[in-house]
Amino acid sequence: MPLYAFRCPEGTEFDLNFAMRDVPASVACPTCGEPARRRVTAPRLSRAGSAAYRLIDSTAASAHEPAVVTSLPPGPAPSSAPRVTQNPMNSNQPPP
Ligand SMILES: [Zn+2]
Repeated sequence: MPLYAFRCPEGTEFDLNFAMRDVPASVACPTCGEPARRRVTAPRLSRAGSAAYRLIDSTAASAHEPAVVTSLPPGPAPSSAPRVTQNPMNSNQPPP
């Protein structure tokens, strides 16, 4: 649900979550009880649960808790042919 900003006549600012269809033009200020009008701000939509947020969370978690791999990923089996490089910069390296 989007987060909406409100400001009462005395200057108290606070944020409340409302569904877009239910957001009122004013609510009672939690400090003084006067009607606080909704302010016009940039949209602050919740990103929690989105694909971007899950990616950020999994990336942060992998820094501390790397996933344990117990098998090779599916795909073609690695070739048994010896790896030979054709790069002349590697010509002085010993063979594998
Ligand atoms: Zn107030």
